[in-house]
Amino acid sequence: MHKFTVLIIEDEKHIYEFMAKALASNGYRTSWAASGKEALSLYTSLCPDVILLDLGLPDIDGMDVIVQIRSWSECPIIVVSARKEESDKVQALDAGADDYLTKPYGMPELLARIRTCLRHSSRNSNGSSAQQPYQAKGLKIDFLKRIVSLDGIHVHLTPIEYKIVALLAQNSGRVMTYTTLLQDVWGPYAEPDNKILRVNMANIRRKLEKNPAQPVYIFTEVGIGYRMIDDEAT
Ligand code: CA
Repeated sequence: MHKFTVLIIEDEKHIYEFMAKALASNGYRTSWAASGKEALSLYTSLCPDVILLDLGLPDIDGMDVIVQIRSWSECPIIVVSARKEESDKVQALDAGADDYLTKPYGMPELLARIRTCLRHSSRNSNGSSAQQPYQAKGLKIDFLKRIVSLDGIHVHLTPIEYKIVALLAQNSGRVMTYTTLLQDVWGPYAEPDNKILRVNMANIRRKLEKNPAQPVYIFTEVGIGYRMIDDEAT
């Protein structure tokens, strides 16, 4: 069986060892880089399937590692950091990180995030991401027909609302920042106006959620963006 390789970029050895042990017992192969420079040189020889990245590194800042890897690779990057500020999360995600987990975290959570990233990257590489319908808890999205249904009943969304929902569903399980959503839905020159997004999200939730104040499909990551519940189909 093919084992996925996880590159762990972490300067503290005991944290690496803890992660490596847990990942190995879940069938992953791991590799360790204790600095940013080591990570960048190791990356090219290793071609990992997922990268777990600590931001506080002894040489280059983790943010720069994201930017450098993203300049030539689509490899999923999950930031695992003690930095809890919203601005750090937003910066990392907008620089190209796929997800963000703050320390301390639970191992089941980390494993779930890794599975989500692997699923998205395998879909992207076989080019079928837009073909497979999304399905979770009675919500179904057919991307080819552009139909959204809830427990089999068609939900009418405006074109903008559909774009937002489709984008979140195609990235389900991952947080999408306000900036990413604004640029993908309204175009690269969209003004950074979160209000228009909030208004649309309020309308979407009224249509999708039984109780919009306690959503089960689309969650708010305060100050960062939105995350849609993971696809059940895979
Ligand atoms: Ca560190």
